[in-house]
Amino acid sequence: MFGTSHRAYVSSQGRGYGRYSHTWTCSCGTRGGNYSSRSDAEAAASKHEKNRR
Ligand SMILES: [Zn+2]
Repeated sequence: MFGTSHRAYVSSQGRGYGRYSHTWTCSCGTRGGNYSSRSDAEAAASKHEKNRR
């Protein structure tokens, strides 16, 4: 099945004052981060899963 071993997960960390930093980490070791909204981070993560970059 395509992409089975290539999964990116979003995690959110509180930075205080109601601010959160949304980052994603992929099973291939790639990371992306500092999205201001979780939906943006999830979109970037799923995009990476499809594009492998
Ligand atoms: Zn990846």
